[in-house]
Amino acid sequence: MRRRYVRKLFNTKKPYDLNQSDGLFCHAMRENALYHYNHCKDYKRILDEAQFNPLNIKTMDDLIDLPFIPTLYFKHHELFSKALWKMPIKATSSGTSSGFKSKVALSIGDLWRGFKMIKRIFSYHKLWSIRPVTYLIFGYQPTKHSSAGIMKTAYGFTYVAPAKKRVYAIRWSKEKGYQVDLEYMKQEFIKAAKKRTPIRTIGFPAYTYFLLKEMEAEGIQLKMPKGSIVTVGGGWKQFYAEKVDKQEFYRLVNDVLGIEEKNCVEFFGAVEHPVLYTDCDQHHFHVPAYARVIIRNPDNFKPVKNGQIGLINLLTPMVEGTPLLSVMTDDLGILHDENCDCGATSPWIEIIGRVGIKDITTCAQGAEELLKN
Ligand SMILES: [Zn+2]
Repeated sequence: MRRRYVRKLFNTKKPYDLNQSDGLFCHAMRENALYHYNHCKDYKRILDEAQFNPLNIKTMDDLIDLPFIPTLYFKHHELFSKALWKMPIKATSSGTSSGFKSKVALSIGDLWRGFKMIKRIFSYHKLWSIRPVTYLIFGYQPTKHSSAGIMKTAYGFTYVAPAKKRVYAIRWSKEKGYQVDLEYMKQEFIKAAKKRTPIRTIGFPAYTYFLLKEMEAEGIQLKMPKGSIVTVGGGWKQFYAEKVDKQEFYRLVNDVLGIEEKNCVEFFGAVEHPVLYTDCDQHHFHVPAYARVIIRNPDNFKPVKNGQIGLINLLTPMVEGTPLLSVMTDDLGILHDENCDCGATSPWIEIIGRVGIKDITTCAQGAEELLKN
């Protein structure tokens, strides 16, 4: 099957111009819906039961009626639209050993689209660099023992600028398994401050925050080399869950590492919605052209007006390995359409946090448990 519109959408030159790409987005969603309808038996059943014909997707309003799949569903069911052996990436969402994990597979085409998206968005935010950097990664050292999607993402980010060195906060040893070692990270920060190679930090905001807090308490004040950037992100678990005030975080980064607020960049994405959201200089997560966001009333799932709180429903025609067209998260959020000083015209999404569903152990909790041990 040809993917004419999806390809066009991922070739778009203006990643935050949604008005211009609305029509294209609808066509791409119809194309992707038809693909999964014809290649995934369970997806066909879901649409048939809802009496939804993918051919009916003609306008943005039709996307409201396209059945969404809760992220929880991916934790209990495997939905694939291609033979598994044909797909290079089988990612699982983060979770504890007792919790369920979403299984999502990505095809070679999906990776290619992901690459184009990252390339475009990073160009827009001026995140590419040909200058080698030292990566300080607040995340898992990649080994064959972990297949968490976050880890793969973090590792992928280290190709954005050439890596001179990669340092991991959660390291694997044969005797103890994964262990958090913030003292080791602290020493690496101190070493890096004496060199000329810029640093980039990546990963869990909770760890970054804890370590910086500790360094501040010890009176450590560093000045990182020019060109250093702090990036945080890692799935849905954001500051919101940790109740860390963002301004407080930026202040810490400035005081302890000597890196200005404008060089703090936050990302989010999810295994079930592998679209890259990057905050602008006003720290707003604008919706990129590859995705749309519908905020729904938790009681009846009807869309709410912009500016009102509801459940976050994420849409993208990016993936052909797994039917991720319309995914319902268990997070509450708000879609804002006020003008933003950064100049991007697309609305931005504010994530309020997780709805309390007890059997989901979030990544944040998992990370906290690791810290306690
Ligand atoms: Zn903005």
